[in-house]
Amino acid sequence: MENKAQKQYRCKYCGKLFFKGDLVKGVVEVKCKNCKNFNVFEGGEGELVHVSEGA
Ligand SMILES: [Zn+2]
Repeated sequence: MENKAQKQYRCKYCGKLFFKGDLVKGVVEVKCKNCKNFNVFEGGEGELVHVSEGA
């Protein structure tokens, strides 16, 4: 089983998961379909989590 680090980008208002990956640079604006709020993510931001494959 391989462990790898992964970033998860969630709505800052309701916690809904938008996407996973690593945003290195640039800015992404996402409108939450759940609570209709806009979230802006900048490169380097994000919640770093460790996931276990197959878990
Ligand atoms: Zn939301």
